[in-house]
Amino acid sequence: MRVGCPKEIKNNEYRVGLTPGSVREYIAHGHEVIVETNAGVAIDADDGVYQAAGAKIVPTAKDVFDQSDMIVKVKEPQPSEWAMLREGQILYTYLHLAPDPEQTKGLVESGCTAVAYETVTDDRGGLPLLAPMSEVAGRLSIQAGATALQKANGGRGVLLGGVPGVLPGKVTIIGGGVVGINAAKMAVGLGADVTILDRSIPRLRQLDDIFNGRIHTRYSTIEALENEVFSADVVVGAVLIPGAAAPKLVTREMLSGMKKGAVIVDVAIDQGGCFETSHATTHSEPTYEVDGIIHYCVANMPGAVPVTSAHALNNATLHYGLQLADKGLKAIAEDRHLRAGLNVHRGRITNAPVADALGYEL
Ligand code: NAD
Repeated sequence: MRVGCPKEIKNNEYRVGLTPGSVREYIAHGHEVIVETNAGVAIDADDGVYQAAGAKIVPTAKDVFDQSDMIVKVKEPQPSEWAMLREGQILYTYLHLAPDPEQTKGLVESGCTAVAYETVTDDRGGLPLLAPMSEVAGRLSIQAGATALQKANGGRGVLLGGVPGVLPGKVTIIGGGVVGINAAKMAVGLGADVTILDRSIPRLRQLDDIFNGRIHTRYSTIEALENEVFSADVVVGAVLIPGAAAPKLVTREMLSGMKKGAVIVDVAIDQGGCFETSHATTHSEPTYEVDGIIHYCVANMPGAVPVTSAHALNNATLHYGLQLADKGLKAIAEDRHLRAGLNVHRGRITNAPVADALGYEL
């Protein structure tokens, strides 16, 4: 198969769909790999490194789309990209379609077969292609929250770790999945007072075991959520209902109960966000204020640390990508986990939560 990798064009997105290491693997499986010039410069991999790995370098994204049977990317296609997709072509990337009717329409009309990283599953019921980026975003969320909390950045002026004789800051994490655990690890590392809320009791038990008394866990009722949000210096939104838009757990009215200058980091913004007042921001302007509360809602947080996240992403995507390249649509038919990733096929939506969210027939 001819496998293509264009340069990412979303604002401040520096990751790349295929690292030179992945290119070598596709070549070793007998495929041809076509990479847009400078696609990997931000991860210290120039065209020469890709050529040495066996890739053919082409000057434009259009060349990649025109010459490839399968496109491997990082972020959801932008309008100029979905216009270049064609019937029968496989797109393998993050899509996050549920909150994005415009992109969904673009993909449906293209006739392509789109496999979304975020809905591919594994035997343990996890989302293996979302996990590495959730690890990165979870860890970054505390760095982002701590920075936004500084007075000069509009925040309350609290140091999360405190100092001897002064209490630490309080971090509330809503959702104790991969993002939540990784946020907690960083917040605990800084010395903050950390509480995680979740709706899954087995998950709360697991967190209690992992952190061994170093964090508080709380079942996520409306009352518990209000208590923990109102007393927090930083609130991290980390809930997920796979494939569906995030539930709005914190309303605008609730902001008035929070401490002025407290910070919301809505990591779930890529699924629409779990705060009513969230809207997606970019790395160039990551925060804004509503009712005295600082909001950080960057939809592609891992893009800030592309060297780490491009390699982490490729580690996770390579296995399924090779299956797609080796077997084409047969790989989707044979592997139920890859089939769970199929969101769009020849003009139809094939993922139930996406179809529900956007009013398409399955
Ligand atoms: P996950 O499935 O590992 O964890 C989600 C957790 O939310 C689960 O433990 C679930 O029980 C819990 N949950 C569901 N409903 C809840 C509720 N009402 N109250 C409390 N908890 C609830 O998911 P994850 O990998 O941690 O991802 C979390 C979110 O972060 C997703 O929306 C994901 O798309 C997003 N994400 C964003 C970025 C970014 O750059 N902004 C990067 C990676 C992941």
